[in-house]
Amino acid sequence: MPELRSRLQVDLPGERRPRRLRSSPALRRLVRETRLDPAQLVAPLFVVSGRERREEISSLKGHSRWSPDLALAEARRLARLGVGGVLLFGIPDAKDAEGSGAAAAGGPVPETLRKLREAKLPLVSIADVCLCEYTDHGHCGVLRGGEVDNDATLPLLAEAALAYAEAGADVVAPSAMMDGQVAALRSALDAAGHLDTAIMAYASKHASGFYGPFREAAGSTPGVGDRKAYQMDSANGREALLEMELDAGEGADLLMVKPAITSLDLLALARQRFDLPLAAYQVSGEAAMIEAAAERGWIDRRTVVLESLTAIVRAGAQVVMTYFAADVATWLREDR
Ligand SMILES: [Zn+2]
Repeated sequence: MPELRSRLQVDLPGERRPRRLRSSPALRRLVRETRLDPAQLVAPLFVVSGRERREEISSLKGHSRWSPDLALAEARRLARLGVGGVLLFGIPDAKDAEGSGAAAAGGPVPETLRKLREAKLPLVSIADVCLCEYTDHGHCGVLRGGEVDNDATLPLLAEAALAYAEAGADVVAPSAMMDGQVAALRSALDAAGHLDTAIMAYASKHASGFYGPFREAAGSTPGVGDRKAYQMDSANGREALLEMELDAGEGADLLMVKPAITSLDLLALARQRFDLPLAAYQVSGEAAMIEAAAERGWIDRRTVVLESLTAIVRAGAQVVMTYFAADVATWLREDR
C-alpha cells in the first residue's frame, strides 16, 4: 500500500476542485443556489364553526382545528413571522350528499375569510375548493349511480368558490380533480365581478397514500371506494403535464403539484414548460414521516424539514404549502 500511495498521481486541473467553494460556512452561504423565504410558504389552516374552539389534530403534530376567531389569531402569528399565506380547509357541522355546506356563506371558511379581510394582514388568503369535507360520502363530487359525476359537480364547486371570493379570498384553489373545474370557477367568478380573484389549480394531483393524516384532520375519508377515478395515477408524468396545460389554458394563475415529494420531476419539467408560478403541496403524510422519525431520534427534524423544502424549491416550486411554515419562518429568522 505505501508504494501505491507514493506512485498514485492524480492530475486535477486547478479549475476542477469544486470542494474549494465548500470550505467555509461563509463560502457555502455565498454560493448557495436555492434559498428559502418565509414569504413563499403557505400554512394550511383547518377551520370549524363556533368561538374559542380549538381541537388538536393528533395526526398533524402542532396543528389544530380552529374556530374563526382563533384562526384569525393564528393567522396574525403567521403574518408576524413573515409567512406568505394561509390555505383554508373547512370542517362543517353537518354533511349531506351534495356537500352543500361548501358554498354556505355562514360556513367556517367564509367567516374566517371575512375576519382576515377586516384584519388586513399582510398574508394571502387562499380557500381550498372541494366537496369532500362537506359530503356525507366523502367524495370530491356528487354521486350519480355510485360514480362521481364530473359535470354535475362543476356548478357546486363554482358556487363554493364564489362564496369564498365574496367573503374576501384572494385566491381560490380547486382541488377536486374534475375536468373543467378551473374554467367553471373562472367564468363564475368573472360573471360575478370577481375579476381579481386568482385561481391556484391543484393541477397535478395524484391519488396518494400520503394524504392519510389530512383525511383524519378534515374528516374526509371516502365512505365507499377511493378517489382513483378522478385523482391521477401516481405512475403518470406526461398526464400530469397535460393536466397542467389544460388548467393553464382554462385560466389558472398558479399551477400546483401534489404530493411534493413524489412530484419533484414534474416540477422540474413544468418549470421548463410553463411560465406561470408553480406551487407544491408538502402533504400531511410527508410531514408525518418527518415528525415520526424525528420523535424516534432517527433524524434531526430541523435539518430534514429545511432539506426537504429546499429540494422542492430547487426542483422548481416558488410557492410551497407546508405544515412546517411557522417553524421554518422562525428558523430562517434565527439564522439571519
Ligand atoms: Zn376533495
